[in-house]
Amino acid sequence: MNVLVINCGSSSLKYQVIDSESEQVLAKGICERIGIDGRLVYQPKDGEKELTNAPMPTHTEAVRMVLDALVNPKTGVLKSLQEIDAVGHRLVHGGEKFSSSVLIDEDVILAVEACSDLAPLHNPANLIGVRACQEVLKGVPMVGVFDTAFHQTMPQKAYLYGVPYSYYEKYGVRKYGFHGTSHSYVSKRAAEILNKPYESLKTIVCHLGNGASVCAVENGKSIDTSMGLSPLEGLIMGTRSGDIDPSAVEFMAKKENLDLDGILNVLNKESGVYGISGLSSDFRDLDSASQEGDERAKAARDMFCYRTAKYIGSYAAAMNGADVICFTAGVGENDGGVRKDVCSYLGFLGVKLDEEANKKRGEEVILSTPDSKVTVMLVPTNEELAICREAVAIINQ
Ligand code: AMP
Repeated sequence: MNVLVINCGSSSLKYQVIDSESEQVLAKGICERIGIDGRLVYQPKDGEKELTNAPMPTHTEAVRMVLDALVNPKTGVLKSLQEIDAVGHRLVHGGEKFSSSVLIDEDVILAVEACSDLAPLHNPANLIGVRACQEVLKGVPMVGVFDTAFHQTMPQKAYLYGVPYSYYEKYGVRKYGFHGTSHSYVSKRAAEILNKPYESLKTIVCHLGNGASVCAVENGKSIDTSMGLSPLEGLIMGTRSGDIDPSAVEFMAKKENLDLDGILNVLNKESGVYGISGLSSDFRDLDSASQEGDERAKAARDMFCYRTAKYIGSYAAAMNGADVICFTAGVGENDGGVRKDVCSYLGFLGVKLDEEANKKRGEEVILSTPDSKVTVMLVPTNEELAICREAVAIINQ
């Protein structure tokens, strides 16, 4: 089965075509600047990356361009669009309505729309991608895979906030968690690599990318995670503040003469390691600047590692122990320095890092020594493959 995996943002659309039997990526790329001017990046499996500038007033034109590229007689990877058997859509917020992936129909679209006030930047954009594909790929089954679904197993004590219960009842104010597709994929993969039953492990997954979150997976179920109602809670991230005293929000807004939108913009886009360093949200820049003695870059890195370690500690408490700690995503897969600094706080759990193994990047590897009480692993995430697998599973149900 060939699955077209779509991850649609407000002005971009990332795609991959995956052959579900071999799990090979046949082609991948991105449409950028949709609604502005338009640019298609297309990379076939064994070919050169191509860049095409062409007008994309809406996502429908973007989807059409992707499909044209896929069946292009010279560089395409499909003979015809009939070779696309399913589309898997990344959908960000499924609220409490979706605890697993679903076959998309009009009722599902309405339910995702109803969750849009919880994810105003993401859900409408995701649905635009769904609509565009429905228009161009008539009759092809579409599956929605939610970032929040994996975390729907959290117990009430983990997901409720300490605010009036009526706000939960009336408005759905609670922790939902994100990166669920990645946390699920990585925790399962770790069990496979270790050849242990998934249902018997206590695993802590650190998804450390530009967006970052930690998840406690006990017996194959998410029981807590660091992101909340929105992806702003939890770790310090590339440009997001993570946890902060709610009173500081009002205090800063008054001092800076900002309204609610203004201060939320600061917390989402001008904070995190970027805001602290005043330099960059990219850990490659922070690493080189701190090596050159830049104090604020060093402070940003230190804060990031410290808070990650604190979350790991709290999730070890939540599960009364941990068998496995996994690092994944851009920083987690590539930055051995960050992994080492995070693990330096975890001696109390019996974590012992193998410094030689920790030099590895972007591959599946055990990072701890054989006598470490917790197995520390690098497991590269693959959200597209996870979406492809979900789509096949739902269609074959
Ligand atoms: P992601 O959101 O998972 O795509 O991660 C993107 C982030 O990963 C970038 O902003 C960088 O901070 C980080 N990153 C990517 N490559 C490296 C690297 N070689 N060393 C350190 N950090 C990296």
